[in-house]
Amino acid sequence: ASRFEGVTMAPPDPILGVSEAFKADTHESKLNLGVGAYRTEELQPYVLNVVKKAENLMVERGENKEYLPIEGLAAFNKVTAELLFGADNPVIKQQRVATVQGLSGTGSLRLAAALIERYFPGAKVLISSPTWGNHKNIFNDARVPWSEYRYYDPKTVGLDFEGMLADIKAAPEGSFVLLHGCAHNPTGIDPTPEQWEKIADVIQEKNHIAFFDVAYQGFASGSLDGDAASVRLFAARGMEILVAQSYSKNLGLYAERIGAINVVCSSADAAARVKSQLKRLARPMYSNPPIHGARIVANVVGDPSLFNEWKAEMEMMAGRIKNVRQKLYDYLSAKDKSGKDWSFILKQIGMFSFTGLNKTQTENMTNKWRVYMTKDGRISLAGLSLAKCEYLADAIVDSFH
Ligand code: PMP
Repeated sequence: ASRFEGVTMAPPDPILGVSEAFKADTHESKLNLGVGAYRTEELQPYVLNVVKKAENLMVERGENKEYLPIEGLAAFNKVTAELLFGADNPVIKQQRVATVQGLSGTGSLRLAAALIERYFPGAKVLISSPTWGNHKNIFNDARVPWSEYRYYDPKTVGLDFEGMLADIKAAPEGSFVLLHGCAHNPTGIDPTPEQWEKIADVIQEKNHIAFFDVAYQGFASGSLDGDAASVRLFAARGMEILVAQSYSKNLGLYAERIGAINVVCSSADAAARVKSQLKRLARPMYSNPPIHGARIVANVVGDPSLFNEWKAEMEMMAGRIKNVRQKLYDYLSAKDKSGKDWSFILKQIGMFSFTGLNKTQTENMTNKWRVYMTKDGRISLAGLSLAKCEYLADAIVDSFH
């Protein structure tokens, strides 16, 4: 008998498990709208030209593979904080940001969760309902208690703003409030700038700490500054905030695992202490982060000509998703004779659309139409081509009714 007899089979991951099922399907018409990864119109993975150029530079320079310090590549940490806050932001000028390179968005969130567990014992993290599936796993594994705040209103397929504010208000003082900086996953529904102000008011009133997850900077609207507006609004109020960043989507560096955790503190002294503790938490988990993606980001963001090329490629990717979104809406409106208003699709932003399909309906999408998607009704428009919009609209209309 195995010593691992007591180990039960784990269920497949609700998001990554969708890709496994897709791979196993042999149907011609199959479509993978599960995982949020950008595809070309030909539905192929895309490596950005600026990434290839940055990698060529690295080879030309003959750079070595020595260990990075625990906090990561200094040139990366500098540019990543500047990209997030803007280079002239007082939080940067006053050295009030503790920035540590992380294992992409996930690893950066996990490191922050470990910091919360160690220094704010018992403090709760408030999570939007719904949210990216991995958030709950991350806080569970870090032993950080969490609860949900209302976010999505199924009646309007929009934001339940009153519910959100009420739940944040009702939480114990000094809670952490996890916010999606832009392009909320899975709903694609973001607060307006006025609503962000009100959210900041309530968080300040309650002495909560805002914890931003920024996985789509530049990828949501096509503008790096525009997508960072929520974070900068909080920083401009002098609030202490946490911000996890990812370069998976906006630079297409999914497998390089490159991102960062930034903790904005009220003094440079506090930032230095926080950074020292983040390093202390990282050391026994993975010692130090990988160098390849960090160098790519440092090269692209640190070089004005590559930086401009990156912005153009990001606009191209964001633009393709917007075109697909429009075309899907056009087909749905034309094909669905029930009078249902599909305009919510156009109001959503980022790579996802929350269709409102329930679990049974998503099963019809997959079993009958071979459209692979998560059971919460989310589809990744980044995995959709203009050519497949009509097919998808047929599948959605059939599954709804
Ligand atoms: N947060 C959100 C909201 C996400 O959608 C994602 C990617 N799906 C991540 C974090 C982290 O992804 P990664 O670890 O690849 O950076």
